[in-house]
Amino acid sequence: QFRSLAQQTPDALLGLIRLFQEDHRPHKIDLGVGIFRDDQGLTPVLGAVKAAERILVEQQDSKSYLGPVGDSGFVDLTARLALGDDLATSPFLVRLQTPGGNGALRLAFELLAEASKDAVVWVGSPTWVNHFPLIASAGLESRSHRFYDPATLRIDFDGMMADLGSAKSGDVILLHGCCHNPSGATFSSSEWTELLALCQRQGLLPLIDFAYHGLGDGLEADAAPVRMFVENLPEAIVAYSCDKNFGMYRDRVGSLFVKATTHAETDAVRSQLFGTARAMWSMPPDHGAATCRIILSSPELRSVWQEELASMRERINGLRKAVANSLPQLSAVANQRGLFSLLPVSKDAVQLLREERAIYMAPDGRINIAGLSEANMPHFVQSISGYLS
Ligand code: PMP
Repeated sequence: QFRSLAQQTPDALLGLIRLFQEDHRPHKIDLGVGIFRDDQGLTPVLGAVKAAERILVEQQDSKSYLGPVGDSGFVDLTARLALGDDLATSPFLVRLQTPGGNGALRLAFELLAEASKDAVVWVGSPTWVNHFPLIASAGLESRSHRFYDPATLRIDFDGMMADLGSAKSGDVILLHGCCHNPSGATFSSSEWTELLALCQRQGLLPLIDFAYHGLGDGLEADAAPVRMFVENLPEAIVAYSCDKNFGMYRDRVGSLFVKATTHAETDAVRSQLFGTARAMWSMPPDHGAATCRIILSSPELRSVWQEELASMRERINGLRKAVANSLPQLSAVANQRGLFSLLPVSKDAVQLLREERAIYMAPDGRINIAGLSEANMPHFVQSISGYLS
């Protein structure tokens, strides 16, 4: 049977991890994989997470199955965190736990495909590479619209609006809630408002990929546009991840929120989501979600977590300012948000930077800002300045 299988192209970033591990140059810098790093280059378990895990081990008295919603306390608390109390508790909001943001996205695309096979999913160019297989796996078509302009390192908003002019009613627009991967480019609040008006005018359904809540400008500020969309449109979907903001990456912690318009539609959405999830993973993994629930429901642990989140965010935004101050061509990096920026460098330059300067980044020039540190910044700045186009 297996003779018929073709080899898939290996993931470029995973290959990069191996090359980096095999590189013994002491000044090497890893700007590849998208994880938060501290100034020592480490990704430690958060203090709030460690404390909550201890409580979990102590208090958990059964590992029997939970229902299709997963950990309902976790789902309720993340819905309130992302959407605020009113939207989170609306009778028209379907909420369930998923294996990370990936699971939430996959489930959302399956739901959309079930609802309408010919809905097109509009994605900005570029977007997170995994969006494409997630959309295609559900059998949906994706279409690109202009988004990032490498000449200005900013969003080409006029180009984006012009391209979306040909979207038809019922199409889906995939938006990053904050901290765009890979560009870090951010919408102004008036651009968010214009985008909402476009969705209203053209009958577009937003799917908001909210994977970096709190890592941009803070929990409230990052959530504001997401809430505005959910509040002001009849239907909206939010794919939420706790893997970055709680540093739980491998524990696969996420939830999906779907807003519908009538009781009958809400019930249908819920039953579709439960049925599809049952056929894909049956039930989501418990440990990370239970840990997040303990943090979010304890005022003390919640405030420890919020401080840890703020320090991650401040470190990233501080590094952004440092890059912008040292390299005038990259001044826009200070206004971007989240872990990533796309450097205006050619594919050849990416390779040369790796081979000659031991600086590792994704082939498209995406860097993880958190891979920079006070110690490696001079080597980065000095190496990169010769290659910027
Ligand atoms: N969306 C985006 C834009 C991401 O960058 C990521 C993680 N790289 C995800 C979703 C998925 O996150 P998770 O690890 O929770 O599946």
